[in-house]
Amino acid sequence: MDRIKRDYVFHRDLKKDYPIITHGEGVYLFDENGKKYLDACSGAVAANLGHGVASIGDAMAEQAKKAAFVHTMRFETNVLHELAETIGKMAPDHLNKVYFTTGGSEANESALKLARQFHRDAGRPQKHIVIGRWQSYHGNTIGSLSAGGDVKRRHAYTPNLLNYAHVYSPYCHRCPYGRQKDDCLAKENLTCLTDIERTILELGPENVSAFIAEPIVGSQQGAVPPPPGYFEKVRELCDRYEIVLIIDEVMTGFGRTGTNFATEQIGIEPDIITFGKGVSAGYAPLAGMIVHDRIINGLIQNSDGKFIHGYTYSGHPVAVAAGLAAMHVYDRDRVLENVNEQGPYLVDRLLELKQKHSYISDIRGRGLLIGMELVRDCEHDQLFDPSEKAAETLNGIAMELGAVFYPGTGSIDGIKGEHLIISPPLNVTKEEIDEMVNILDRAFTIFKEQLR
Ligand code: PLP
Repeated sequence: MDRIKRDYVFHRDLKKDYPIITHGEGVYLFDENGKKYLDACSGAVAANLGHGVASIGDAMAEQAKKAAFVHTMRFETNVLHELAETIGKMAPDHLNKVYFTTGGSEANESALKLARQFHRDAGRPQKHIVIGRWQSYHGNTIGSLSAGGDVKRRHAYTPNLLNYAHVYSPYCHRCPYGRQKDDCLAKENLTCLTDIERTILELGPENVSAFIAEPIVGSQQGAVPPPPGYFEKVRELCDRYEIVLIIDEVMTGFGRTGTNFATEQIGIEPDIITFGKGVSAGYAPLAGMIVHDRIINGLIQNSDGKFIHGYTYSGHPVAVAAGLAAMHVYDRDRVLENVNEQGPYLVDRLLELKQKHSYISDIRGRGLLIGMELVRDCEHDQLFDPSEKAAETLNGIAMELGAVFYPGTGSIDGIKGEHLIISPPLNVTKEEIDEMVNILDRAFTIFKEQLR
Protein backbone atom coordinates (compact mmCIF):
# COMPACT_ATOMS: atom_id res chain seq x y z
CA MET A 1 0.00 0.00 0.00
CA ASP A 2 2.77 2.38 1.02
CA ARG A 3 4.66 1.62 -2.13
CA ILE A 4 1.69 2.75 -4.20
CA LYS A 5 1.31 6.00 -2.28
CA ARG A 6 4.99 6.78 -2.73
CA ASP A 7 4.74 6.21 -6.45
CA TYR A 8 2.76 9.41 -6.88
CA VAL A 9 5.50 11.67 -5.56
CA PHE A 10 7.92 13.11 -8.11
CA HIS A 11 11.13 13.20 -6.06
CA ARG A 12 14.21 14.88 -7.45
CA ASP A 13 15.80 11.43 -7.51
CA LEU A 14 13.21 9.02 -8.84
CA LYS A 15 15.30 6.02 -7.89
CA LYS A 16 15.44 6.81 -4.21
CA ASP A 17 13.10 6.41 -1.29
CA TYR A 18 13.57 8.58 1.76
CA PRO A 19 12.62 7.99 5.40
CA ILE A 20 9.07 9.16 6.13
CA ILE A 21 9.15 11.77 8.87
CA THR A 22 6.16 11.81 11.19
CA HIS A 23 7.16 14.60 13.58
CA GLY A 24 9.95 16.68 15.01
CA GLU A 25 10.91 18.07 18.37
CA GLY A 26 13.73 20.53 18.97
CA VAL A 27 16.78 19.45 16.99
CA TYR A 28 15.34 15.98 16.34
CA LEU A 29 13.21 14.51 13.55
CA PHE A 30 11.47 11.14 13.96
CA ASP A 31 10.56 8.75 11.17
CA GLU A 32 7.62 6.35 10.95
CA ASN A 33 9.71 3.58 12.52
CA GLY A 34 10.51 5.73 15.51
CA LYS A 35 14.10 6.32 14.38
CA LYS A 36 15.49 9.63 15.63
CA TYR A 37 17.66 11.92 13.48
CA LEU A 38 19.61 14.80 14.95
CA ASP A 39 19.08 17.57 12.39
CA ALA A 40 22.64 18.91 12.28
CA CYS A 41 21.95 21.05 9.20
CA SER A 42 18.49 22.48 10.02
CA GLY A 43 17.13 20.68 6.96
CA ALA A 44 18.48 22.88 4.20
CA VAL A 45 19.85 25.45 6.69
CA ALA A 46 16.25 26.58 7.08
CA ALA A 47 14.74 25.07 10.26
CA ASN A 48 16.73 27.54 12.34
CA LEU A 49 14.58 27.20 15.47
CA GLY A 50 14.29 23.44 15.31
CA HIS A 51 11.08 21.47 15.05
CA GLY A 52 7.72 21.59 16.75
CA VAL A 53 7.74 25.19 17.98
CA ALA A 54 4.08 25.48 19.01
CA SER A 55 3.87 29.28 19.05
CA ILE A 56 4.78 29.45 15.34
CA GLY A 57 2.24 26.76 14.43
CA ASP A 58 -0.42 28.51 16.52
CA ALA A 59 0.23 31.89 14.87
CA MET A 60 -0.12 30.31 11.44
CA ALA A 61 -3.36 28.55 12.38
CA GLU A 62 -4.83 31.72 13.85
CA GLN A 63 -3.98 33.73 10.76
CA ALA A 64 -5.36 31.01 8.46
CA LYS A 65 -8.64 31.12 10.37
CA LYS A 66 -8.81 34.93 10.10
CA ALA A 67 -7.75 35.46 6.47
CA ALA A 68 -5.65 32.85 4.70
CA PHE A 69 -5.20 34.64 1.43
CA VAL A 70 -5.11 38.34 0.70
CA HIS A 71 -4.05 39.53 -2.71
CA THR A 72 -1.28 42.06 -2.06
CA MET A 73 -2.03 43.84 -5.34
CA ARG A 74 -5.27 45.01 -3.72
CA PHE A 75 -4.95 44.70 0.07
CA GLU A 76 -2.52 44.80 2.96
CA THR A 77 -2.47 43.12 6.37
CA ASN A 78 -1.12 44.12 9.77
CA VAL A 79 1.10 41.02 9.96
CA LEU A 80 2.71 42.10 6.68
CA HIS A 81 3.44 45.55 8.07
CA GLU A 82 4.80 44.19 11.34
CA LEU A 83 7.13 41.66 9.75
CA ALA A 84 8.40 44.16 7.17
CA GLU A 85 9.10 46.66 9.95
CA THR A 86 10.96 44.06 12.04
CA ILE A 87 13.13 43.02 9.09
CA GLY A 88 13.67 46.59 7.88
CA LYS A 89 14.94 47.56 11.33
CA MET A 90 17.39 44.64 11.39
CA ALA A 91 18.91 45.61 8.05
CA PRO A 92 21.65 48.23 7.47
CA ASP A 93 20.58 51.88 7.81
CA HIS A 94 19.44 52.69 4.30
CA LEU A 95 17.80 49.39 3.47
CA ASN A 96 14.22 49.75 4.60
CA LYS A 97 11.62 48.48 2.18
CA VAL A 98 10.87 44.77 2.27
CA TYR A 99 9.40 42.80 -0.63
CA PHE A 100 8.18 39.26 0.04
CA THR A 101 8.36 36.14 -2.11
CA THR A 102 7.88 32.45 -1.33
CA GLY A 103 11.44 31.18 -1.83
CA GLY A 104 15.05 32.27 -2.16
CA SER A 105 15.19 31.64 -5.94
CA GLU A 106 12.21 33.96 -6.42
CA ALA A 107 13.81 36.52 -4.13
CA ASN A 108 16.96 36.60 -6.24
CA GLU A 109 14.93 36.58 -9.44
CA SER A 110 13.09 39.64 -8.11
CA ALA A 111 16.34 41.38 -7.19
CA LEU A 112 17.86 40.80 -10.64
CA LYS A 113 14.74 42.19 -12.29
CA LEU A 114 14.58 45.15 -9.94
CA ALA A 115 18.20 46.07 -10.73
CA ARG A 116 17.44 45.96 -14.45
CA GLN A 117 14.25 48.03 -14.16
CA PHE A 118 15.98 50.57 -11.91
CA HIS A 119 18.70 51.18 -14.51
CA ARG A 120 16.37 51.17 -17.49
CA ASP A 121 14.02 53.73 -15.98
CA ALA A 122 16.94 55.91 -14.88
CA GLY A 123 18.09 56.21 -18.49
CA ARG A 124 20.68 53.45 -18.54
CA PRO A 125 18.80 51.04 -20.83
CA GLN A 126 21.81 48.99 -21.88
CA LYS A 127 22.53 47.77 -18.38
CA HIS A 128 21.30 44.19 -18.25
CA ILE A 129 24.20 41.80 -17.63
CA VAL A 130 24.65 40.29 -14.18
CA ILE A 131 28.04 39.26 -12.81
CA GLY A 132 27.86 36.30 -10.44
CA ARG A 133 30.46 34.03 -8.95
CA TRP A 134 31.26 30.44 -9.85
CA GLN A 135 31.19 29.19 -6.27
CA SER A 136 27.78 30.64 -5.59
CA TYR A 137 24.26 29.35 -5.53
CA HIS A 138 21.33 31.71 -5.95
CA GLY A 139 18.50 29.33 -6.82
CA ASN A 140 17.08 27.06 -9.48
CA THR A 141 14.84 29.32 -11.56
CA ILE A 142 16.38 30.32 -14.88
CA GLY A 143 17.46 33.82 -13.83
CA SER A 144 18.88 32.79 -10.46
CA LEU A 145 20.52 29.69 -11.97
CA SER A 146 22.10 31.91 -14.65
CA ALA A 147 23.50 34.20 -11.96
CA GLY A 148 24.83 31.31 -9.86
CA GLY A 149 27.74 29.07 -10.69
CA ASP A 150 26.60 25.56 -9.85
CA VAL A 151 27.98 23.86 -12.93
CA LYS A 152 26.19 20.56 -12.29
CA ARG A 153 22.81 22.26 -12.03
CA ARG A 154 23.52 24.63 -14.94
CA HIS A 155 24.83 22.03 -17.36
CA ALA A 156 21.55 20.50 -18.56
CA TYR A 157 20.02 23.92 -19.15
CA THR A 158 22.95 25.66 -20.82
CA PRO A 159 20.96 26.67 -23.93
CA ASN A 160 18.28 28.26 -21.73
CA LEU A 161 20.55 30.22 -19.43
CA LEU A 162 20.92 33.97 -19.65
CA ASN A 163 24.17 35.40 -20.89
CA TYR A 164 25.54 36.40 -17.49
CA ALA A 165 29.21 36.59 -16.52
CA HIS A 166 31.04 34.88 -13.66
CA VAL A 167 34.20 35.34 -11.64
CA TYR A 168 35.67 33.11 -8.95
CA SER A 169 34.91 33.99 -5.37
CA PRO A 170 37.78 34.11 -2.87
CA TYR A 171 38.79 30.69 -1.57
CA CYS A 172 42.16 31.29 0.01
CA HIS A 173 42.41 27.71 1.28
CA ARG A 174 42.55 26.48 -2.33
CA CYS A 175 42.75 29.57 -4.52
CA PRO A 176 41.06 29.09 -7.89
CA TYR A 177 43.48 31.66 -9.34
CA GLY A 178 46.47 29.70 -8.01
CA ARG A 179 47.63 32.47 -5.65
CA GLN A 180 49.23 31.91 -2.25
CA LYS A 181 47.09 33.22 0.60
CA ASP A 182 49.69 35.14 2.61
CA ASP A 183 51.35 36.67 -0.40
CA CYS A 184 48.05 37.75 -1.92
CA LEU A 185 46.63 39.24 1.26
CA ALA A 186 49.90 40.92 2.27
CA LYS A 187 50.15 42.72 -1.06
CA GLU A 188 46.51 43.72 -0.84
CA ASN A 189 46.22 42.62 -4.41
CA LEU A 190 43.53 39.99 -4.55
CA THR A 191 43.23 38.47 -8.00
CA CYS A 192 39.61 37.64 -7.22
CA LEU A 193 39.04 41.41 -7.02
CA THR A 194 41.08 42.51 -10.01
CA ASP A 195 39.19 39.90 -12.00
CA ILE A 196 35.87 41.56 -11.16
CA GLU A 197 37.07 44.89 -12.53
CA ARG A 198 38.59 43.19 -15.58
CA THR A 199 35.24 41.47 -16.23
CA ILE A 200 33.29 44.72 -15.87
CA LEU A 201 35.59 46.51 -18.30
CA GLU A 202 35.52 43.62 -20.75
CA LEU A 203 31.70 43.53 -20.74
CA GLY A 204 31.51 47.32 -20.84
CA PRO A 205 30.31 48.99 -17.62
CA GLU A 206 27.40 50.47 -19.56
CA ASN A 207 26.10 46.90 -20.00
CA VAL A 208 26.49 45.65 -16.42
CA SER A 209 23.39 45.83 -14.26
CA ALA A 210 24.21 43.94 -11.05
CA PHE A 211 26.81 41.99 -9.11
CA ILE A 212 25.44 39.22 -6.90
CA ALA A 213 27.26 37.34 -4.15
CA GLU A 214 26.69 35.36 -0.98
CA PRO A 215 28.49 37.10 1.90
CA ILE A 216 29.71 33.71 3.10
CA VAL A 217 29.64 31.07 0.39
CA GLY A 218 27.16 28.38 1.40
CA SER A 219 26.26 25.23 -0.48
CA GLN A 220 28.80 25.61 -3.31
CA GLN A 221 31.89 25.53 -1.18
CA GLY A 222 30.85 24.89 2.40
CA ALA A 223 30.71 28.04 4.55
CA VAL A 224 33.64 30.06 3.22
CA PRO A 225 33.95 33.62 4.60
CA PRO A 226 35.60 36.30 2.47
CA PRO A 227 39.11 37.66 3.17
CA PRO A 228 39.23 41.02 4.95
CA GLY A 229 38.49 44.00 2.72
CA TYR A 230 37.03 41.97 -0.16
CA PHE A 231 33.50 43.32 0.00
CA GLU A 232 34.60 46.92 0.66
CA LYS A 233 36.44 46.74 -2.66
CA VAL A 234 33.44 45.12 -4.37
CA ARG A 235 31.29 47.98 -3.06
CA GLU A 236 33.78 50.52 -4.47
CA LEU A 237 33.72 48.85 -7.89
CA CYS A 238 29.91 48.77 -7.92
CA ASP A 239 29.80 52.48 -7.02
CA ARG A 240 32.40 53.37 -9.63
CA TYR A 241 30.58 51.57 -12.46
CA GLU A 242 26.96 52.15 -11.32
CA ILE A 243 26.29 48.49 -10.64
CA VAL A 244 23.59 47.29 -8.22
CA LEU A 245 25.18 45.18 -5.47
CA ILE A 246 22.95 42.29 -4.41
CA ILE A 247 23.98 40.36 -1.31
CA ASP A 248 22.26 36.99 -1.11
CA GLU A 249 21.56 36.27 2.56
CA VAL A 250 19.10 33.46 1.88
CA MET A 251 21.30 31.07 3.85
CA THR A 252 23.13 33.50 6.13
CA GLY A 253 20.29 35.76 7.29
CA PHE A 254 18.53 35.94 10.67
CA GLY A 255 21.40 35.12 12.99
CA ARG A 256 22.88 32.11 11.26
CA THR A 257 26.40 33.58 11.20
CA GLY A 258 26.27 35.36 14.58
CA THR A 259 24.76 38.68 13.49
CA ASN A 260 21.26 39.35 12.16
CA PHE A 261 22.69 39.61 8.67
CA ALA A 262 26.21 38.58 7.65
CA THR A 263 26.33 41.91 5.83
CA GLU A 264 27.08 43.49 9.24
CA GLN A 265 30.31 41.51 9.31
CA ILE A 266 31.45 42.44 5.81
CA GLY A 267 31.06 46.11 6.65
CA ILE A 268 29.19 47.43 3.63
CA GLU A 269 25.73 48.59 2.68
CA PRO A 270 24.47 46.58 -0.29
CA ASP A 271 21.76 47.90 -2.61
CA ILE A 272 19.62 44.82 -2.11
CA ILE A 273 19.73 42.03 0.46
CA THR A 274 17.82 38.90 -0.42
CA PHE A 275 16.67 36.56 2.34
CA GLY A 276 14.74 33.29 2.79
CA LYS A 277 15.02 30.13 4.86
CA GLY A 278 15.57 31.49 8.41
CA VAL A 279 12.97 34.25 8.03
CA SER A 280 10.22 31.77 8.88
CA ALA A 281 12.66 29.26 10.45
CA GLY A 282 11.36 26.91 7.77
CA TYR A 283 7.77 26.95 9.07
CA ALA A 284 6.37 28.42 5.84
CA PRO A 285 7.65 29.14 2.32
CA LEU A 286 8.76 32.72 2.83
CA ALA A 287 11.61 34.83 1.46
CA GLY A 288 12.14 38.27 0.00
CA MET A 289 14.40 41.24 -0.49
CA ILE A 290 15.24 44.41 1.44
CA VAL A 291 15.88 47.36 -0.83
CA HIS A 292 18.05 50.46 -0.44
CA ASP A 293 16.28 53.84 -0.32
CA ARG A 294 18.27 54.92 -3.38
CA ILE A 295 16.56 52.26 -5.51
CA ILE A 296 13.15 52.90 -4.00
CA ASN A 297 13.53 56.65 -4.69
CA GLY A 298 14.61 55.82 -8.23
CA LEU A 299 11.43 53.79 -8.75
CA ILE A 300 9.28 56.58 -7.32
CA GLN A 301 10.90 59.20 -9.53
CA ASN A 302 11.45 57.27 -12.74
CA SER A 303 8.96 54.41 -12.76
CA ASP A 304 5.83 56.06 -11.38
CA GLY A 305 6.46 54.04 -8.20
CA LYS A 306 5.82 50.74 -9.95
CA PHE A 307 7.93 47.60 -9.88
CA ILE A 308 6.94 45.59 -12.96
CA HIS A 309 6.80 42.26 -11.19
CA GLY A 310 4.65 40.27 -8.74
CA TYR A 311 3.65 36.85 -7.44
CA THR A 312 0.29 35.50 -6.31
CA TYR A 313 1.74 34.44 -2.97
CA SER A 314 3.85 37.52 -2.28
CA GLY A 315 3.20 38.50 1.35
CA HIS A 316 0.91 35.49 1.96
CA PRO A 317 -0.64 36.16 5.39
CA VAL A 318 -0.08 32.67 6.83
CA ALA A 319 3.57 32.63 5.73
CA VAL A 320 4.10 36.15 7.02
CA ALA A 321 2.46 35.19 10.35
CA ALA A 322 4.95 32.32 10.59
CA GLY A 323 7.78 34.80 9.95
CA LEU A 324 6.55 37.19 12.59
CA ALA A 325 6.13 34.41 15.16
CA ALA A 326 9.64 33.16 14.31
CA MET A 327 11.02 36.68 14.92
CA HIS A 328 9.42 36.67 18.37
CA VAL A 329 11.07 33.36 19.22
CA TYR A 330 14.50 34.54 17.97
CA ASP A 331 14.13 37.52 20.24
CA ARG A 332 12.49 35.85 23.25
CA ASP A 333 15.01 32.99 23.40
CA ARG A 334 18.06 35.24 22.79
CA VAL A 335 18.98 33.01 19.91
CA LEU A 336 21.73 35.29 18.61
CA GLU A 337 23.56 35.02 21.95
CA ASN A 338 23.33 31.25 21.73
CA VAL A 339 24.83 31.28 18.22
CA ASN A 340 27.81 33.25 19.48
CA GLU A 341 28.25 30.88 22.41
CA GLN A 342 27.76 27.57 20.62
CA GLY A 343 29.46 28.49 17.32
CA PRO A 344 33.01 28.60 18.79
CA TYR A 345 32.27 25.47 20.83
CA LEU A 346 31.21 23.61 17.68
CA VAL A 347 34.38 24.74 15.89
CA ASP A 348 36.55 23.55 18.82
CA ARG A 349 34.88 20.16 18.80
CA LEU A 350 35.32 19.86 15.01
CA LEU A 351 39.00 20.83 15.29
CA GLU A 352 39.38 17.90 17.69
CA LEU A 353 37.94 15.67 14.95
CA LYS A 354 40.40 17.19 12.47
CA GLN A 355 43.28 16.00 14.68
CA LYS A 356 41.86 12.52 14.59
CA HIS A 357 40.72 12.05 10.99
CA SER A 358 43.07 12.78 8.10
CA TYR A 359 40.12 13.36 5.76
CA ILE A 360 39.42 16.80 7.20
CA SER A 361 41.57 19.51 5.64
CA ASP A 362 39.78 22.67 6.72
CA ILE A 363 37.20 23.88 9.24
CA ARG A 364 35.79 27.33 8.50
CA GLY A 365 32.66 29.46 8.72
CA ARG A 366 30.97 31.89 11.06
CA GLY A 367 28.45 31.48 13.87
CA LEU A 368 26.58 28.23 13.32
CA LEU A 369 27.33 28.01 9.59
CA ILE A 370 30.40 25.82 9.66
CA GLY A 371 32.04 24.04 6.73
CA MET A 372 34.35 21.07 6.76
CA GLU A 373 36.45 20.36 3.67
CA LEU A 374 37.02 16.67 3.02
CA VAL A 375 40.05 15.30 1.18
CA ARG A 376 41.31 11.78 0.56
CA ASP A 377 44.61 12.49 2.24
CA CYS A 378 45.22 15.63 4.19
CA GLU A 379 49.01 15.25 4.41
CA HIS A 380 49.44 15.10 0.62
CA ASP A 381 46.46 17.34 -0.07
CA GLN A 382 44.95 14.69 -2.32
CA LEU A 383 41.34 15.49 -3.26
CA PHE A 384 38.56 12.96 -3.59
CA ASP A 385 37.37 12.48 -7.11
CA PRO A 386 33.84 13.96 -7.27
CA SER A 387 32.58 10.62 -8.67
CA GLU A 388 33.44 9.06 -5.29
CA LYS A 389 30.74 11.24 -3.69
CA ALA A 390 32.71 11.29 -0.45
CA ALA A 391 30.58 13.90 1.34
CA GLU A 392 27.34 12.19 0.32
CA THR A 393 28.69 8.81 1.46
CA LEU A 394 29.85 10.18 4.82
CA ASN A 395 26.47 11.82 5.36
CA GLY A 396 24.72 8.54 4.46
CA ILE A 397 26.70 6.77 7.19
CA ALA A 398 25.91 9.55 9.66
CA MET A 399 22.21 9.24 8.84
CA GLU A 400 22.34 5.53 9.61
CA LEU A 401 23.88 6.49 12.95
CA GLY A 402 21.18 9.11 13.57
CA ALA A 403 22.41 12.54 12.46
CA VAL A 404 21.97 14.40 9.20
CA PHE A 405 24.46 16.93 7.76
CA TYR A 406 24.51 18.96 4.52
CA PRO A 407 26.94 17.44 2.00
CA GLY A 408 28.24 19.22 -1.08
CA THR A 409 30.71 18.99 -3.93
CA GLY A 410 32.46 21.96 -5.52
CA SER A 411 31.79 21.66 -9.24
CA ILE A 412 34.50 23.89 -10.70
CA ASP A 413 37.71 22.43 -12.14
CA GLY A 414 40.64 22.80 -9.78
CA ILE A 415 38.50 23.42 -6.71
CA LYS A 416 36.40 20.31 -6.64
CA GLY A 417 36.62 20.01 -2.87
CA GLU A 418 34.01 17.91 -1.10
CA HIS A 419 32.50 19.37 2.02
CA LEU A 420 29.94 18.98 4.77
CA ILE A 421 28.04 21.93 6.17
CA ILE A 422 27.30 21.68 9.88
CA SER A 423 24.51 24.12 10.66
CA PRO A 424 22.25 22.95 13.49
CA PRO A 425 19.21 24.92 14.67
CA LEU A 426 20.38 28.17 16.24
CA ASN A 427 18.99 27.20 19.66
CA VAL A 428 21.11 24.03 19.81
CA THR A 429 22.68 23.10 23.17
CA LYS A 430 26.25 22.03 23.99
CA GLU A 431 25.03 18.50 24.73
CA GLU A 432 23.39 18.30 21.31
CA ILE A 433 26.59 19.56 19.67
CA ASP A 434 28.53 16.85 21.53
CA GLU A 435 26.05 14.28 20.29
CA MET A 436 26.32 15.36 16.64
CA VAL A 437 30.13 15.54 16.74
CA ASN A 438 30.33 12.10 18.36
CA ILE A 439 28.12 10.65 15.62
CA LEU A 440 30.31 12.31 12.98
CA ASP A 441 33.38 10.86 14.66
CA ARG A 442 31.91 7.36 14.43
CA ALA A 443 30.82 8.00 10.85
CA PHE A 444 34.43 8.86 9.89
CA THR A 445 35.65 5.57 11.41
CA ILE A 446 33.14 3.56 9.36
CA PHE A 447 33.90 5.69 6.27
CA LYS A 448 37.59 4.82 6.62
CA GLU A 449 36.80 1.10 6.82
CA GLN A 450 34.62 1.36 3.70
CA LEU A 451 37.34 3.16 1.72
CA ARG A 452 39.83 0.38 2.32
N1 PLP B 1 20.42 31.55 -2.31
C1 PLP B 1 21.13 30.81 -1.44
C2 PLP B 1 22.39 31.37 -0.87
C3 PLP B 1 20.71 29.53 -1.10
O1 PLP B 1 21.43 28.80 -0.24
C4 PLP B 1 19.51 29.04 -1.66
C5 PLP B 1 19.01 27.68 -1.33
O2 PLP B 1 19.70 26.83 -0.86
C6 PLP B 1 18.79 29.85 -2.56
C7 PLP B 1 19.28 31.09 -2.85
C8 PLP B 1 17.52 29.35 -3.20
O3 PLP B 1 16.50 29.34 -2.28
P1 PLP B 1 15.19 28.45 -2.51
O4 PLP B 1 15.65 27.03 -2.54
O5 PLP B 1 14.33 28.80 -1.34
O6 PLP B 1 14.59 28.87 -3.80
